[in-house]
Amino acid sequence: MSAISQINSPENPMDVVRSIADLRDRVGDWKAKGLKVGLVPTMGALHEGHLSLVRRLAQDVDRVIVSIFVNPAQFGPQEDFAAYPRQEALDCLRLQGTPADLVYAPAADVMYPPGFLTSVRVGRITDDLEGAVRPGHFDGVATVVLKLFTQSGCDAAIFGEKDYQQLVMIRHMVRNLDLPVEILGGAIVREADGLAASSRNVYLSAPQRKIAGKLNVILADLRAKALAGAGAGADLGALEQMGTRALIDAGFDRVDYVSFRDAQSLETITTLNAPARLLAVARLGPTRLLDNLAI
Ligand code: AMP
Repeated sequence: MSAISQINSPENPMDVVRSIADLRDRVGDWKAKGLKVGLVPTMGALHEGHLSLVRRLAQDVDRVIVSIFVNPAQFGPQEDFAAYPRQEALDCLRLQGTPADLVYAPAADVMYPPGFLTSVRVGRITDDLEGAVRPGHFDGVATVVLKLFTQSGCDAAIFGEKDYQQLVMIRHMVRNLDLPVEILGGAIVREADGLAASSRNVYLSAPQRKIAGKLNVILADLRAKALAGAGAGADLGALEQMGTRALIDAGFDRVDYVSFRDAQSLETITTLNAPARLLAVARLGPTRLLDNLAI
């Protein structure tokens, strides 16, 4: 079926393209009219966090593309690539009523045809935090995001602050490679108890879901303590250890990190005299919950 015939069909409320040629045709038509085109890269299983990025980006651009691609290159061999939720029809329903104009949902061999060899690596910033726990993850993200930019020719793209290290990495990549793409960050969307919305929250059992809600509360408490002690030179290392203990006491099975960082460089910090970010990952069973707060 051609991409055109899918527009607003009863089965699919969204216009979906799956080939680079169709994507470029559509974007080319928009650019010929002088329209500014934005991209929201996602792996699908869309929730309110993703939809908020669509709405935010639409304030700055004339047309919004949402890409849906579960990127094998960013999953480790022991990770949940096979189990990752795939629900394109439901995603398209969720996008109805948002300002999204087009869905780009390529198959894996469109993104990585036989003989694919290239990988993009952004240095230092990707070495620790998520990079230490998930070797190769950020190379997979950087590679697919660069491909999505060159495939779509987008003028702007938005990434959630939920994956803060990813956002910082993409900003570096764009600067370092002189990519003509404006990068926006979208605020973290949270559920009623403050748990950051995530496609992986569906993995949580009811008791785990209750514990999960404590992550943001503990981080907010650490932030308050850091700010309260800032004048007297708060011991950020001691607060990180206190946070780790509090998470274990709250019922988390494991804490990958609790870390105060410089908000821009992501370097470790010992004092709060520049914009900072508190980043943490705690595990419930096999599920890793990411969160972070601006300081
Ligand atoms: P994903 O589908 O998990 O790759 O996420 C796609 C984009 O949505 C990324 O830029 C994420 O940072 C962003 N995102 C995921 N969850 C949230 C959230 N709760 N609030 C804001 N953005 C989010």
